[in-house]
Amino acid sequence: MTETPADRPTSINIVGAGTMGSGIALAGLYAGFQVGLFDVAEAVLEQAEAYLLKHLERKDMLAARQRLRLATDLAALPPADLWLEAVPEDLELKRRVIAEIEAHVAPETIIATNTSTLSVTALAAAADRPQRVVGLHFFNPAAVLPLVEVIRAQATSPATIDRALAAAHALGKTPVVVADSPGFIVNRVARPFYGEALRLLGEGVADVASIDRAVESAGFKMGPFRLMDLIGIDINFTAANSVYAQTFFEPRFRPHRIQQQMVAQGALGRKTGSGFYDYGAGHEPELVAWPSAGQAGRVMVAGQAWAAGLLTLLARGGGERVEDGSQAQAAFVVAGQEEDLPQLLALVDSQLPPGRPLFVQANDVSLAQAEGWLGGSDRLVGFDAWFAADARSMTLAAGPAVGAQVRQRAEALVGSLGRLPLWIVESPALILPRIVAMLVNEAAFAVGDGIAEAATIDQAMQLGANYPHGPLAWGQRLGWERTAEVLDHLHDEYAEERYRVAPQLRRWARRGYQLKSRS
Ligand code: NAD
Repeated sequence: MTETPADRPTSINIVGAGTMGSGIALAGLYAGFQVGLFDVAEAVLEQAEAYLLKHLERKDMLAARQRLRLATDLAALPPADLWLEAVPEDLELKRRVIAEIEAHVAPETIIATNTSTLSVTALAAAADRPQRVVGLHFFNPAAVLPLVEVIRAQATSPATIDRALAAAHALGKTPVVVADSPGFIVNRVARPFYGEALRLLGEGVADVASIDRAVESAGFKMGPFRLMDLIGIDINFTAANSVYAQTFFEPRFRPHRIQQQMVAQGALGRKTGSGFYDYGAGHEPELVAWPSAGQAGRVMVAGQAWAAGLLTLLARGGGERVEDGSQAQAAFVVAGQEEDLPQLLALVDSQLPPGRPLFVQANDVSLAQAEGWLGGSDRLVGFDAWFAADARSMTLAAGPAVGAQVRQRAEALVGSLGRLPLWIVESPALILPRIVAMLVNEAAFAVGDGIAEAATIDQAMQLGANYPHGPLAWGQRLGWERTAEVLDHLHDEYAEERYRVAPQLRRWARRGYQLKSRS
Protein backbone atom coordinates (compact mmCIF):
# COMPACT_ATOMS: atom_id res chain seq x y z
CA MET A 1 0.00 0.00 0.00
CA THR A 2 1.33 3.44 -0.78
CA GLU A 3 0.60 5.92 1.90
CA THR A 4 0.76 9.68 1.81
CA PRO A 5 1.85 11.54 4.94
CA ALA A 6 -1.72 12.78 5.30
CA ASP A 7 -2.93 9.15 5.54
CA ARG A 8 -0.46 8.27 8.22
CA PRO A 9 -2.23 7.74 11.54
CA THR A 10 -0.84 10.02 14.22
CA SER A 11 -3.20 9.56 17.13
CA ILE A 12 -4.52 6.68 19.21
CA ASN A 13 -6.96 6.46 22.10
CA ILE A 14 -6.60 3.44 24.34
CA VAL A 15 -9.34 2.11 26.60
CA GLY A 16 -7.90 0.20 29.56
CA ALA A 17 -4.57 1.39 30.98
CA GLY A 18 -3.29 -1.89 32.46
CA THR A 19 -0.26 -3.88 31.34
CA MET A 20 -1.07 -3.78 27.64
CA GLY A 21 -2.82 -0.40 27.47
CA SER A 22 0.12 1.37 29.11
CA GLY A 23 2.65 -0.58 27.00
CA ILE A 24 0.86 0.36 23.77
CA ALA A 25 0.61 3.97 24.99
CA LEU A 26 4.39 3.99 25.43
CA ALA A 27 4.87 2.61 21.91
CA GLY A 28 2.61 5.44 20.69
CA LEU A 29 4.57 8.13 22.54
CA TYR A 30 7.88 6.74 21.26
CA ALA A 31 6.46 6.89 17.72
CA GLY A 32 5.33 10.53 18.02
CA PHE A 33 1.60 9.81 18.36
CA GLN A 34 -0.96 11.82 20.31
CA VAL A 35 -2.05 9.28 22.91
CA GLY A 36 -5.24 9.22 24.94
CA LEU A 37 -5.43 6.72 27.79
CA PHE A 38 -8.69 5.93 29.53
CA ASP A 39 -9.36 3.65 32.49
CA VAL A 40 -12.22 3.28 34.94
CA ALA A 41 -9.72 3.12 37.79
CA GLU A 42 -7.95 6.35 38.79
CA ALA A 43 -5.20 4.38 40.55
CA VAL A 44 -4.40 2.46 37.34
CA LEU A 45 -4.03 5.72 35.44
CA GLU A 46 -1.62 7.01 38.08
CA GLN A 47 0.44 3.82 37.80
CA ALA A 48 0.36 4.05 34.01
CA GLU A 49 1.55 7.64 34.12
CA ALA A 50 4.43 6.76 36.44
CA TYR A 51 5.40 3.88 34.15
CA LEU A 52 5.30 6.10 31.05
CA LEU A 53 7.31 8.90 32.64
CA LYS A 54 9.96 6.47 33.88
CA HIS A 55 10.47 5.09 30.38
CA LEU A 56 10.29 8.47 28.64
CA GLU A 57 12.90 9.81 31.03
CA ARG A 58 15.24 6.94 30.20
CA LYS A 59 15.06 7.89 26.54
CA ASP A 60 15.31 11.59 27.31
CA MET A 61 11.81 12.03 25.86
CA LEU A 62 9.99 13.70 28.75
CA ALA A 63 8.62 16.32 26.35
CA ALA A 64 6.43 13.55 24.90
CA ARG A 65 4.30 13.90 28.06
CA GLN A 66 2.66 16.83 26.19
CA ARG A 67 1.22 14.34 23.74
CA LEU A 68 -0.41 12.21 26.45
CA ARG A 69 -3.97 12.69 27.74
CA LEU A 70 -5.21 10.64 30.70
CA ALA A 71 -8.92 10.36 31.44
CA THR A 72 -11.42 8.52 33.59
CA ASP A 73 -14.19 9.70 31.32
CA LEU A 74 -14.36 8.56 27.72
CA ALA A 75 -15.87 11.87 26.61
CA ALA A 76 -12.79 13.73 27.88
CA LEU A 77 -10.58 12.19 25.18
CA PRO A 78 -10.04 14.15 21.95
CA PRO A 79 -10.84 12.50 18.57
CA ALA A 80 -8.20 10.04 17.32
CA ASP A 81 -7.36 8.12 14.14
CA LEU A 82 -7.62 4.83 15.98
CA TRP A 83 -9.33 3.62 19.13
CA LEU A 84 -8.07 0.47 20.78
CA GLU A 85 -9.61 -1.44 23.64
CA ALA A 86 -7.30 -3.24 26.10
CA VAL A 87 -9.73 -4.07 28.90
CA PRO A 88 -9.67 -7.52 30.58
CA GLU A 89 -10.27 -10.64 28.49
CA ASP A 90 -14.03 -10.92 28.98
CA LEU A 91 -16.30 -11.18 25.96
CA GLU A 92 -19.28 -9.30 27.40
CA LEU A 93 -17.14 -6.53 28.88
CA LYS A 94 -15.27 -6.05 25.62
CA ARG A 95 -18.49 -6.03 23.59
CA ARG A 96 -19.87 -3.36 25.89
CA VAL A 97 -16.70 -1.28 25.61
CA ILE A 98 -16.68 -1.52 21.81
CA ALA A 99 -20.30 -0.34 21.66
CA GLU A 100 -19.44 2.54 24.04
CA ILE A 101 -16.48 3.57 21.90
CA GLU A 102 -18.59 3.45 18.76
CA ALA A 103 -21.14 5.78 20.31
CA HIS A 104 -18.35 8.37 20.80
CA VAL A 105 -16.44 8.33 17.57
CA ALA A 106 -16.83 9.52 13.98
CA PRO A 107 -18.30 6.96 11.53
CA GLU A 108 -14.99 6.36 9.74
CA THR A 109 -12.85 5.88 12.87
CA ILE A 110 -11.54 2.36 13.21
CA ILE A 111 -11.93 0.45 16.46
CA ALA A 112 -9.37 -2.20 17.38
CA THR A 113 -9.31 -4.87 20.04
CA ASN A 114 -6.19 -6.24 21.68
CA THR A 115 -7.84 -9.52 22.58
CA SER A 116 -5.42 -12.44 22.67
CA THR A 117 -7.93 -15.29 22.66
CA LEU A 118 -11.48 -14.11 21.93
CA SER A 119 -13.15 -14.19 18.54
CA VAL A 120 -12.77 -10.77 16.90
CA THR A 121 -15.85 -11.60 14.83
CA ALA A 122 -17.90 -11.99 18.03
CA LEU A 123 -16.52 -8.72 19.39
CA ALA A 124 -17.09 -6.83 16.13
CA ALA A 125 -20.72 -7.94 16.14
CA ALA A 126 -21.25 -5.59 19.11
CA ALA A 127 -20.72 -2.60 16.79
CA ASP A 128 -23.36 -1.12 14.50
CA ARG A 129 -20.66 -0.94 11.82
CA PRO A 130 -18.62 -4.14 12.35
CA GLN A 131 -16.68 -3.46 9.15
CA ARG A 132 -14.63 -0.88 11.08
CA VAL A 133 -13.62 -3.32 13.84
CA VAL A 134 -10.30 -5.18 13.63
CA GLY A 135 -7.99 -7.10 15.95
CA LEU A 136 -4.61 -5.52 16.77
CA HIS A 137 -2.84 -8.09 18.90
CA PHE A 138 0.26 -6.61 20.51
CA PHE A 139 2.68 -8.72 22.51
CA ASN A 140 3.92 -7.99 26.02
CA PRO A 141 5.99 -5.78 26.55
CA ALA A 142 4.21 -3.87 23.81
CA ALA A 143 6.72 -1.02 23.62
CA VAL A 144 9.51 -3.51 22.87
CA LEU A 145 8.16 -6.45 20.89
CA PRO A 146 7.83 -5.69 17.19
CA LEU A 147 5.04 -8.05 16.14
CA VAL A 148 1.40 -7.04 15.82
CA GLU A 149 -1.14 -9.55 14.55
CA VAL A 150 -3.78 -7.71 12.51
CA ILE A 151 -6.88 -9.86 12.76
CA ARG A 152 -9.42 -9.77 9.99
CA ALA A 153 -12.85 -10.61 11.39
CA GLN A 154 -15.66 -11.82 9.12
CA ALA A 155 -17.02 -8.31 8.58
CA THR A 156 -13.76 -6.28 8.69
CA SER A 157 -13.47 -4.17 5.53
CA PRO A 158 -10.30 -4.04 3.41
CA ALA A 159 -10.09 -0.30 4.14
CA THR A 160 -10.05 -1.04 7.89
CA ILE A 161 -7.25 -3.58 7.40
CA ASP A 162 -5.27 -0.97 5.43
CA ARG A 163 -5.77 1.60 8.20
CA ALA A 164 -4.78 -0.91 10.87
CA LEU A 165 -1.65 -1.82 8.91
CA ALA A 166 -0.80 1.85 8.49
CA ALA A 167 -1.27 2.44 12.22
CA ALA A 168 0.91 -0.53 13.14
CA HIS A 169 3.66 0.65 10.77
CA ALA A 170 3.42 4.20 12.11
CA LEU A 171 3.81 2.77 15.62
CA GLY A 172 7.07 1.21 14.44
CA LYS A 173 5.69 -2.33 14.49
CA THR A 174 5.79 -5.23 12.05
CA PRO A 175 2.20 -6.24 11.33
CA VAL A 176 1.05 -9.58 9.92
CA VAL A 177 -2.50 -10.12 8.67
CA VAL A 178 -4.28 -13.14 10.13
CA ALA A 179 -7.76 -14.55 9.59
CA ASP A 180 -9.87 -14.54 12.76
CA SER A 181 -9.32 -17.99 14.27
CA PRO A 182 -8.48 -19.48 17.68
CA GLY A 183 -5.05 -18.36 18.89
CA PHE A 184 -4.45 -16.42 15.64
CA ILE A 185 -0.90 -17.38 14.55
CA VAL A 186 1.46 -17.20 17.52
CA ASN A 187 -0.78 -18.55 20.28
CA ARG A 188 -1.85 -21.38 18.00
CA VAL A 189 1.37 -22.50 16.32
CA ALA A 190 3.25 -22.35 19.64
CA ARG A 191 0.85 -24.74 21.41
CA PRO A 192 2.86 -27.94 20.73
CA PHE A 193 5.99 -26.27 22.12
CA TYR A 194 4.35 -26.40 25.55
CA GLY A 195 1.91 -29.26 24.98
CA GLU A 196 4.47 -31.86 23.88
CA ALA A 197 6.92 -30.79 26.60
CA LEU A 198 4.20 -31.24 29.23
CA ARG A 199 3.38 -34.66 27.84
CA LEU A 200 7.03 -35.71 27.93
CA LEU A 201 7.15 -34.62 31.55
CA GLY A 202 3.85 -36.32 32.36
CA GLU A 203 5.03 -39.57 30.76
CA GLY A 204 8.16 -39.49 32.90
CA VAL A 205 10.41 -39.37 29.81
CA ALA A 206 12.67 -36.64 31.16
CA ASP A 207 12.75 -33.98 33.84
CA VAL A 208 12.06 -30.29 33.32
CA ALA A 209 15.73 -29.29 33.04
CA SER A 210 16.60 -32.00 30.47
CA ILE A 211 13.66 -31.11 28.24
CA ASP A 212 14.58 -27.42 28.42
CA ARG A 213 18.22 -28.19 27.65
CA ALA A 214 17.37 -30.30 24.62
CA VAL A 215 15.13 -27.55 23.27
CA GLU A 216 17.53 -24.70 24.07
CA SER A 217 20.32 -26.67 22.42
CA ALA A 218 18.45 -26.21 19.13
CA GLY A 219 18.60 -22.42 19.41
CA PHE A 220 15.43 -21.57 21.30
CA LYS A 221 16.23 -18.78 23.75
CA MET A 222 14.19 -20.50 26.45
CA GLY A 223 12.99 -24.06 26.82
CA PRO A 224 9.24 -24.60 27.25
CA PHE A 225 9.34 -24.76 31.06
CA ARG A 226 11.52 -21.69 31.59
CA LEU A 227 9.26 -19.85 29.16
CA MET A 228 6.02 -20.96 30.86
CA ASP A 229 7.48 -19.76 34.18
CA LEU A 230 8.19 -16.38 32.60
CA ILE A 231 4.82 -15.98 30.87
CA GLY A 232 2.90 -17.24 33.90
CA ILE A 233 1.58 -20.79 33.99
CA ASP A 234 -1.96 -19.48 34.55
CA ILE A 235 -1.79 -17.22 31.47
CA ASN A 236 -0.39 -20.06 29.37
CA PHE A 237 -3.05 -22.46 30.69
CA THR A 238 -5.82 -19.96 29.87
CA ALA A 239 -4.53 -19.63 26.31
CA ALA A 240 -4.34 -23.44 26.00
CA ASN A 241 -7.90 -23.87 27.26
CA SER A 242 -9.22 -21.12 25.04
CA VAL A 243 -7.73 -22.56 21.85
CA TYR A 244 -8.90 -26.06 22.84
CA ALA A 245 -12.49 -24.96 23.52
CA GLN A 246 -12.72 -22.72 20.46
CA THR A 247 -11.59 -25.52 18.15
CA PHE A 248 -14.37 -27.74 19.52
CA PHE A 249 -11.81 -29.81 21.41
CA GLU A 250 -9.28 -30.55 18.71
CA PRO A 251 -6.95 -33.21 20.26
CA ARG A 252 -3.79 -31.38 19.12
CA PHE A 253 -4.62 -28.63 21.58
CA ARG A 254 -5.67 -30.69 24.60
CA PRO A 255 -4.27 -28.93 27.71
CA HIS A 256 -2.33 -30.91 30.28
CA ARG A 257 -3.32 -31.72 33.87
CA ILE A 258 0.17 -30.79 35.12
CA GLN A 259 -0.54 -27.17 34.22
CA GLN A 260 -3.98 -27.38 35.79
CA GLN A 261 -2.52 -28.71 39.02
CA MET A 262 0.15 -26.03 39.14
CA VAL A 263 -2.45 -23.33 38.69
CA ALA A 264 -4.59 -24.93 41.42
CA GLN A 265 -1.58 -24.87 43.77
CA GLY A 266 -0.78 -21.25 42.95
CA ALA A 267 2.65 -22.19 41.55
CA LEU A 268 2.43 -19.83 38.58
CA GLY A 269 6.11 -19.30 37.72
CA ARG A 270 8.38 -16.36 38.38
CA LYS A 271 5.64 -14.08 39.62
CA THR A 272 4.88 -16.42 42.57
CA GLY A 273 8.50 -17.43 43.18
CA SER A 274 7.95 -21.00 42.05
CA GLY A 275 6.72 -22.81 39.00
CA PHE A 276 8.58 -25.50 37.12
CA TYR A 277 11.70 -24.04 38.76
CA ASP A 278 12.21 -22.49 42.15
CA TYR A 279 12.99 -18.76 42.14
CA GLY A 280 13.12 -18.30 45.91
CA ALA A 281 15.95 -16.12 47.34
CA GLY A 282 17.28 -15.06 43.94
CA HIS A 283 17.54 -18.69 42.82
CA GLU A 284 17.75 -19.02 39.01
CA PRO A 285 17.60 -22.13 36.82
CA GLU A 286 21.09 -23.31 36.00
CA LEU A 287 22.32 -22.77 32.46
CA VAL A 288 24.56 -25.44 31.00
CA ALA A 289 27.92 -25.12 29.37
CA TRP A 290 27.88 -26.85 25.99
CA PRO A 291 30.83 -29.21 25.45
CA SER A 292 33.50 -28.56 22.86
CA ALA A 293 34.59 -31.28 20.46
CA GLY A 294 37.43 -33.63 21.42
CA GLN A 295 38.96 -36.88 20.18
CA ALA A 296 36.14 -38.91 18.71
CA GLY A 297 38.21 -41.92 17.56
CA ARG A 298 37.16 -44.49 14.94
CA VAL A 299 33.46 -44.55 14.20
CA MET A 300 31.31 -46.35 11.67
CA VAL A 301 28.37 -44.50 10.11
CA ALA A 302 25.83 -46.55 8.16
CA GLY A 303 23.03 -45.09 6.06
CA GLN A 304 22.44 -41.45 5.31
CA ALA A 305 18.76 -40.71 5.54
CA TRP A 306 18.58 -39.12 8.94
CA ALA A 307 21.81 -37.50 9.98
CA ALA A 308 23.16 -35.13 7.39
CA GLY A 309 25.34 -33.34 9.94
CA LEU A 310 26.88 -36.36 11.59
CA LEU A 311 29.89 -36.73 9.32
CA THR A 312 30.75 -33.05 9.72
CA LEU A 313 30.53 -33.46 13.47
CA LEU A 314 32.77 -36.48 13.35
CA ALA A 315 35.35 -34.64 11.26
CA ARG A 316 35.19 -31.63 13.59
CA GLY A 317 35.66 -33.93 16.59
CA GLY A 318 38.84 -35.31 15.06
CA GLY A 319 37.12 -38.64 14.47
CA GLU A 320 37.84 -41.09 11.71
CA ARG A 321 35.06 -42.75 9.76
CA VAL A 322 35.78 -46.43 9.21
CA GLU A 323 33.99 -48.74 6.80
CA ASP A 324 34.75 -51.92 8.70
CA GLY A 325 32.71 -52.22 11.91
CA SER A 326 35.24 -54.52 13.55
CA GLN A 327 37.68 -51.56 13.68
CA ALA A 328 35.19 -49.12 15.18
CA GLN A 329 34.78 -47.95 18.78
CA ALA A 330 31.14 -47.24 18.09
CA ALA A 331 28.70 -47.23 15.19
CA PHE A 332 25.84 -44.96 14.16
CA VAL A 333 23.08 -46.41 12.04
CA VAL A 334 21.15 -43.49 10.62
CA ALA A 335 19.42 -45.27 7.74
CA GLY A 336 15.75 -44.72 7.08
CA GLN A 337 13.23 -47.49 6.60
CA GLU A 338 13.62 -47.12 2.82
CA GLU A 339 17.31 -48.00 3.17
CA ASP A 340 16.45 -51.36 4.73
CA LEU A 341 17.20 -50.20 8.24
CA PRO A 342 16.61 -53.61 9.93
CA GLN A 343 19.11 -55.41 7.65
CA LEU A 344 21.70 -52.65 7.90
CA LEU A 345 21.41 -52.56 11.68
CA ALA A 346 21.85 -56.35 11.90
CA LEU A 347 24.89 -56.17 9.62
CA VAL A 348 26.59 -53.45 11.67
CA ASP A 349 25.75 -55.31 14.89
CA SER A 350 27.43 -58.43 13.53
CA GLN A 351 30.66 -56.50 12.79
CA LEU A 352 30.99 -54.25 15.84
CA PRO A 353 32.93 -55.90 18.71
CA PRO A 354 30.93 -56.55 21.91
CA GLY A 355 30.53 -53.79 24.48
CA ARG A 356 30.80 -50.97 21.93
CA PRO A 357 27.81 -48.64 21.61
CA LEU A 358 25.55 -49.12 18.62
CA PHE A 359 23.60 -45.92 18.04
CA VAL A 360 20.40 -46.11 16.03
CA GLN A 361 18.31 -43.20 14.82
CA ALA A 362 15.16 -43.01 16.93
CA ASN A 363 13.29 -40.45 14.85
CA ASP A 364 10.87 -42.73 13.05
CA VAL A 365 11.60 -46.08 14.73
CA SER A 366 11.29 -47.05 18.35
CA LEU A 367 14.16 -48.47 20.31
CA ALA A 368 12.06 -51.53 21.22
CA GLN A 369 11.41 -52.13 17.50
CA ALA A 370 15.12 -51.89 16.68
CA GLU A 371 15.96 -54.20 19.58
CA GLY A 372 13.43 -56.67 18.20
CA TRP A 373 15.19 -56.69 14.81
CA LEU A 374 18.39 -57.73 16.59
CA GLY A 375 16.69 -60.30 18.82
CA GLY A 376 17.66 -58.18 21.83
CA SER A 377 20.72 -56.02 22.46
CA ASP A 378 22.85 -54.94 25.41
CA ARG A 379 24.46 -52.01 23.55
CA LEU A 380 21.78 -50.39 21.45
CA VAL A 381 21.34 -46.63 22.07
CA GLY A 382 18.59 -44.62 20.38
CA PHE A 383 19.41 -41.00 19.52
CA ASP A 384 17.82 -37.96 17.88
CA ALA A 385 19.85 -38.23 14.67
CA TRP A 386 17.69 -35.66 12.86
CA PHE A 387 19.21 -32.90 14.96
CA ALA A 388 22.86 -33.95 14.75
CA ALA A 389 23.64 -30.73 12.89
CA ASP A 390 21.05 -28.41 14.43
CA ALA A 391 21.33 -29.04 18.17
CA ARG A 392 24.15 -28.85 20.69
CA SER A 393 22.72 -31.75 22.66
CA MET A 394 22.21 -35.36 21.69
CA THR A 395 19.30 -37.08 23.38
CA LEU A 396 19.97 -40.73 24.16
CA ALA A 397 17.77 -43.63 25.25
CA ALA A 398 18.74 -47.20 26.03
CA GLY A 399 16.84 -50.37 26.82
CA PRO A 400 17.00 -52.20 30.18
CA ALA A 401 19.78 -54.61 29.10
CA VAL A 402 22.27 -51.80 28.40
CA GLY A 403 24.86 -51.61 31.17
CA ALA A 404 26.87 -48.77 32.70
CA GLN A 405 29.97 -49.35 30.58
CA VAL A 406 28.15 -48.96 27.26
CA ARG A 407 26.39 -45.89 28.60
CA GLN A 408 29.67 -44.32 29.66
CA ARG A 409 31.26 -45.03 26.29
CA ALA A 410 28.23 -43.62 24.49
CA GLU A 411 28.34 -40.47 26.61
CA ALA A 412 32.06 -39.99 26.07
CA LEU A 413 31.70 -40.31 22.33
CA VAL A 414 28.79 -37.86 22.17
CA GLY A 415 30.79 -35.40 24.29
CA SER A 416 33.77 -35.74 21.95
CA LEU A 417 31.47 -34.76 19.08
CA GLY A 418 30.82 -31.49 20.90
CA ARG A 419 27.29 -32.51 21.89
CA LEU A 420 25.80 -32.58 25.38
CA PRO A 421 24.55 -36.12 26.11
CA LEU A 422 21.07 -36.15 27.65
CA TRP A 423 19.76 -39.54 28.77
CA ILE A 424 16.02 -39.90 28.74
CA VAL A 425 13.55 -42.76 29.04
CA GLU A 426 12.78 -44.22 25.61
CA SER A 427 9.75 -42.64 23.98
CA PRO A 428 8.57 -42.05 20.42
CA ALA A 429 10.74 -39.50 18.54
CA LEU A 430 12.52 -38.51 21.79
CA ILE A 431 12.41 -34.74 22.49
CA LEU A 432 13.44 -32.46 19.62
CA PRO A 433 12.12 -34.51 16.69
CA ARG A 434 8.77 -34.70 18.47
CA ILE A 435 8.46 -31.04 19.43
CA VAL A 436 9.85 -29.60 16.20
CA ALA A 437 7.82 -31.94 13.93
CA MET A 438 4.68 -30.93 15.82
CA LEU A 439 5.50 -27.22 15.41
CA VAL A 440 6.03 -27.70 11.67
CA ASN A 441 2.78 -29.68 11.51
CA GLU A 442 0.80 -26.99 13.32
CA ALA A 443 2.18 -24.32 11.00
CA ALA A 444 1.20 -26.51 8.03
CA PHE A 445 -2.32 -26.93 9.49
CA ALA A 446 -2.54 -23.14 9.81
CA VAL A 447 -1.56 -22.69 6.14
CA GLY A 448 -4.06 -25.37 5.11
CA ASP A 449 -6.79 -23.68 7.16
CA GLY A 450 -6.13 -20.40 5.34
CA ILE A 451 -5.06 -18.56 8.51
CA ALA A 452 -2.06 -16.89 6.86
CA GLU A 453 0.60 -17.52 4.23
CA ALA A 454 3.58 -19.72 5.05
CA ALA A 455 6.10 -16.87 5.09
CA THR A 456 3.80 -14.78 7.30
CA ILE A 457 3.53 -17.62 9.81
CA ASP A 458 7.30 -18.00 9.91
CA GLN A 459 7.80 -14.29 10.41
CA ALA A 460 5.20 -14.18 13.19
CA MET A 461 6.82 -17.07 15.06
CA GLN A 462 10.25 -15.51 14.85
CA LEU A 463 9.13 -12.04 15.92
CA GLY A 464 6.31 -12.96 18.31
CA ALA A 465 7.76 -16.07 19.94
CA ASN A 466 11.47 -15.51 19.30
CA TYR A 467 11.91 -18.87 17.53
CA PRO A 468 15.36 -19.43 16.03
CA HIS A 469 13.82 -20.35 12.66
CA GLY A 470 10.41 -20.00 11.12
CA PRO A 471 8.84 -23.44 11.65
CA LEU A 472 8.09 -23.88 7.96
CA ALA A 473 11.55 -22.85 6.77
CA TRP A 474 12.90 -25.31 9.32
CA GLY A 475 10.54 -28.04 8.13
CA GLN A 476 11.67 -27.43 4.57
CA ARG A 477 15.31 -27.72 5.55
CA LEU A 478 14.80 -30.82 7.70
CA GLY A 479 12.63 -32.24 4.93
CA TRP A 480 8.84 -32.36 4.57
CA GLU A 481 8.98 -36.10 4.10
CA ARG A 482 11.14 -36.70 7.16
CA THR A 483 8.82 -34.47 9.20
CA ALA A 484 5.85 -36.55 8.07
CA GLU A 485 7.75 -39.74 8.96
CA VAL A 486 8.35 -38.53 12.52
CA LEU A 487 4.67 -37.66 12.86
CA ASP A 488 3.56 -41.00 11.39
CA HIS A 489 5.77 -42.72 13.93
CA LEU A 490 4.21 -40.73 16.79
CA HIS A 491 0.77 -41.48 15.37
CA ASP A 492 1.50 -45.23 15.19
CA GLU A 493 2.92 -45.39 18.69
CA TYR A 494 0.26 -43.31 20.43
CA ALA A 495 -2.68 -44.10 18.13
CA GLU A 496 -3.93 -40.56 18.72
CA GLU A 497 -5.45 -38.09 16.29
CA ARG A 498 -3.22 -35.46 17.86
CA TYR A 499 -0.28 -36.73 15.81
CA ARG A 500 -1.98 -36.96 12.42
CA VAL A 501 -0.06 -35.33 9.59
CA ALA A 502 -1.57 -32.07 8.29
CA PRO A 503 -2.97 -32.67 4.79
CA GLN A 504 -0.94 -29.68 3.60
CA LEU A 505 2.28 -31.18 4.94
CA ARG A 506 1.45 -34.54 3.36
CA ARG A 507 1.03 -32.81 -0.01
CA TRP A 508 4.32 -30.96 0.39
CA ALA A 509 6.01 -34.26 1.32
CA ARG A 510 4.60 -36.06 -1.71
CA ARG A 511 5.06 -33.37 -4.29
CA GLY A 512 8.02 -31.43 -2.96
CA TYR A 513 7.42 -27.79 -2.14
CA GLN A 514 9.63 -24.74 -2.08
CA LEU A 515 8.53 -21.93 0.24
CA LYS A 516 8.09 -18.56 -1.39
CA SER A 517 9.86 -15.66 0.22
CA ARG A 518 7.61 -13.01 1.74
CA SER A 519 6.19 -10.56 -0.82
P1 NAD B 1 -4.93 -5.58 32.79
O1 NAD B 1 -5.83 -6.23 33.76
O2 NAD B 1 -3.52 -5.30 33.17
O3 NAD B 1 -5.59 -4.21 32.29
C1 NAD B 1 -6.95 -4.06 31.99
C2 NAD B 1 -7.39 -2.65 32.43
O4 NAD B 1 -8.71 -2.40 31.94
C3 NAD B 1 -7.43 -2.45 33.94
O5 NAD B 1 -6.59 -1.38 34.26
C4 NAD B 1 -8.89 -2.13 34.23
O6 NAD B 1 -9.04 -1.15 35.26
C5 NAD B 1 -9.36 -1.57 32.91
N1 NAD B 1 -10.79 -1.64 32.68
C6 NAD B 1 -11.66 -2.57 33.10
N2 NAD B 1 -12.89 -2.27 32.65
C7 NAD B 1 -12.79 -1.11 31.94
C8 NAD B 1 -13.71 -0.32 31.23
N3 NAD B 1 -15.01 -0.64 31.15
N4 NAD B 1 -13.25 0.79 30.61
C9 NAD B 1 -11.95 1.13 30.70
N5 NAD B 1 -11.03 0.40 31.36
C10 NAD B 1 -11.46 -0.70 31.96
O7 NAD B 1 -4.99 -6.52 31.49
P2 NAD B 1 -3.88 -6.65 30.33
O8 NAD B 1 -2.92 -7.72 30.67
O9 NAD B 1 -3.39 -5.31 29.95
O10 NAD B 1 -4.79 -7.24 29.15
C11 NAD B 1 -5.66 -6.43 28.41
C12 NAD B 1 -6.03 -7.13 27.12
O11 NAD B 1 -4.85 -7.40 26.36
C13 NAD B 1 -6.72 -8.48 27.32
O12 NAD B 1 -7.65 -8.65 26.31
C14 NAD B 1 -5.57 -9.46 27.16
O13 NAD B 1 -6.02 -10.73 26.73
C15 NAD B 1 -4.76 -8.78 26.07
N6 NAD B 1 -3.35 -9.17 26.00
C16 NAD B 1 -2.61 -9.31 27.14
C17 NAD B 1 -1.27 -9.64 27.05
C18 NAD B 1 -0.43 -9.78 28.29
O14 NAD B 1 0.63 -10.42 28.20
N7 NAD B 1 -0.82 -9.22 29.40
C19 NAD B 1 -0.67 -9.83 25.79
C20 NAD B 1 -1.44 -9.65 24.64
C21 NAD B 1 -2.78 -9.30 24.77
